Amino acid sequence: MCRMIDLIIKKRDGNVLTDDEIKFIVQGVTDGSIPDEQLSAFLMAVYFKGMTEAETTALTLAMAHSGEIVDLSFVNNVTADKHSTGGVGDKTTLIFAPIVAACGVVMAKMSGKGLGHTGGTVDKLMAIPGIKTDLLENKFIETVTKHSLCITGQSGNLTPADKKLYALRDVTGTVESLPLIAASIMGKKLAAGADCILLDVKAGSGAFMKTVDDAKALARIMVKIGENAGKKTRALITGMNKPLGYAIGNALEVIEAVETLKGRGPEDLNEVCIILSAYLLQMAGKGDLESCRMMAENAVKNGSAFNKLQEMVKAQDGDVKSLDDYTRLPQCDIKHEIAAPETGFIKTMDTEKWGTASVILGAGRAKKDDPIDYGAGIVLVKKTGEMVTKGETIAYLHTNDLASIKTAAEAALNAVVIGDEKPEDEPLLLGVV
Ligand code: URA
Repeated sequence: MCRMIDLIIKKRDGNVLTDDEIKFIVQGVTDGSIPDEQLSAFLMAVYFKGMTEAETTALTLAMAHSGEIVDLSFVNNVTADKHSTGGVGDKTTLIFAPIVAACGVVMAKMSGKGLGHTGGTVDKLMAIPGIKTDLLENKFIETVTKHSLCITGQSGNLTPADKKLYALRDVTGTVESLPLIAASIMGKKLAAGADCILLDVKAGSGAFMKTVDDAKALARIMVKIGENAGKKTRALITGMNKPLGYAIGNALEVIEAVETLKGRGPEDLNEVCIILSAYLLQMAGKGDLESCRMMAENAVKNGSAFNKLQEMVKAQDGDVKSLDDYTRLPQCDIKHEIAAPETGFIKTMDTEKWGTASVILGAGRAKKDDPIDYGAGIVLVKKTGEMVTKGETIAYLHTNDLASIKTAAEAALNAVVIGDEKPEDEPLLLGVV
């Protein structure tokens, strides 16, 4: 008979937990029998002492089986899923999912809300007036069957243990833990039922994994867990030392995503989406990487990817006209300009701080149940590597909360380092696992 106190001490002292002990903990999370203070202590012990590969796998499987496992066998085609480990301005799912669906791969996707300084796809979608992201199973199945594309929030029954732990980690400083991130993501992906899983592991100042080595280690364990569970799994390591694109914040990111699907997006964002799409299409057996890349590019050029997004938004009761007339999306009254404090090249921009600034403006949550201002966020005018002159605008802060401007502006300005030399361009793709 296990006692949670003994398991906390065992992990605190750096020992290895057995499969049964891990199952006991996840069961206690799910049925509520382990109190938050003990779970918080356990999470902190894992944060400091880590977990072996076997422990991480056991935790992932227990999380996946803590609730329902989605059955996608009604789909007569390859099903695919994609997950980002979390970034700033990362609206890739809104672009990538319609692209691959337009190329004949079924995307039946369950997405999450923002976590810490990073955004979440469900919050972004919810900026579209009327859209539903809490679809019942029959509506999910109908939308996937008719349109090969559906993005919904996680149903109440999917990995309930992750929901509880995710929220606790967010308020206990235990998000940035490799085994906890791996189990959280892969638990959800295994429960979500797709045949192919593509992981976009972010590395850099705006990511939970700050270095490429840490990102690769996370990618390796997640790929291993996915493959052991019989799923085709791949991970791309992509850069997060600067926000992706220029928009941060929900409605602002929807606009940028739609512009990208219309062929008018920022180069870095478009390129990451095309790379992700090409790898996924290859995994789904659509051809070699080069031809899959062309297929993805064509889906943007010929408008079929944008049509897919329109179909999905309509099917999920969203205001499809807002994808052409952006004034129908939530907007803010205040647009506060941030000016360059000196002349030179932007050498670095601490992307986590930009993410935090956008949360302060109302685009994310400081606490789990805080409301979101879907119009709030940041539009960057300049990014790392670009030349600025003193006083020139580098960003606009969008908010309806006048009181938030001072703190957000400080966070944003603290995030930027300007120097005399142009920094070297970082590649967007930093590795493939
Ligand atoms: N995304 C998740 O779903 N879980 C994490 O722990 C981090 C990012």
